[in-house]
Amino acid sequence: MYTASDKRYEQLDYRRAGHSGLRLPLISLGLWHNFGSIDDFELAEKMLHCAFDLGITHFDLANNYGPEPGSAESNFGAMLKRGLAKYRDEILVSSKAGFYMWPGPYGEWGSRKNLMASCEQSLKRMGLDYVDIFYHHRPDPDTPLEETMQALADLVRSGKALYVGISNYPLERARQAIALLRELKTPCLLHQINYSLLNPKYEDEGMFDYLQEAGVGAIVFSPLAQGLLSDKYLHGIPADSRARRNHFLKESRITPELLNKIAALQKIAQSRSQSLAQMAIAWVLRHQASSSALIGASKPEQIREIVQASKNLEFTTTELHDIQRIISQP
Ligand code: NDP
Repeated sequence: MYTASDKRYEQLDYRRAGHSGLRLPLISLGLWHNFGSIDDFELAEKMLHCAFDLGITHFDLANNYGPEPGSAESNFGAMLKRGLAKYRDEILVSSKAGFYMWPGPYGEWGSRKNLMASCEQSLKRMGLDYVDIFYHHRPDPDTPLEETMQALADLVRSGKALYVGISNYPLERARQAIALLRELKTPCLLHQINYSLLNPKYEDEGMFDYLQEAGVGAIVFSPLAQGLLSDKYLHGIPADSRARRNHFLKESRITPELLNKIAALQKIAQSRSQSLAQMAIAWVLRHQASSSALIGASKPEQIREIVQASKNLEFTTTELHDIQRIISQP
């Protein structure tokens, strides 16, 4: 039976999510890849334990994570039963609904019917009475925002979620959702957004400034651009990499131009005595509104490396300028 390291709170800092009372670890671990029924259960469990031993108290899931969809939640539930559950009050578990999960008109998007049923299913799969954070996973152009936000607020009232958030909402839609949740006295805790050195669009549109002002935390997913922001692709595509194993990261994305950019960024990272992956994490955490960088991993060593990023989160003006020059290149 797993027993957590008694040094688990000595490595990472914790940041308040917006104006809430909840503090998130600077690094959170997501179970989108490598925790499904097709993956190695023992390895996945090792990663979870490694993360918790390093002070990563937040694990992010969604109804559809797998594959098979749902199996990441079932495996996580099994891992809780095998030892982690005794630390339930030290752990933040999140889940989401909105992407396709089951056939028919209620298995995706943003209706009250979808959110309520999906949350219930997720709780069953994980063997939990409540999740800490429940998100609407993507904006729904057809359902009134009032209906979706009311469903989130009611999940909190019913005790099935402690906090709620939104994900992938563009700025204007996020503004409306956050205002509605405030009216419902269930403030939006977090906005989960895709942001990295290779994908800075939310910064360009002013999302971080807005979230800071609104008192909502940003939790940044894919801060390593699915692993591109590391040295692993500089000399070819390794057999055990996501680009080789998974259709979510297309090999065709790895062009000579991209590799030049990655190599130039790596030079700056080296001058900061960091790996590129560590610098990529520091870069997304430099915003005050960033509550946590939400990473994925395929091996425990990757998590250990990333946690070390928190040792150097500061950037000089020259570094920021040089980085900006590199990432603005087409
Ligand atoms: P990352 O950008 O952190 O990519 C993770 C991948 O990068 C790993 O699986 C691994 O890939 C590689 N990697 C990790 N650490 C290192 C390292 N130190 N050195 C080299 N390579 C490394 O995040 P993800 O894209 O996995 O997303 C993270 C989480 O964000 C998800 O699990 C999910 O919880 C959430 N998410 C939310 C979405 C939403 O719509 N709300 C959408 C997508 C993700 P490899 O297999 O090549 O080793």
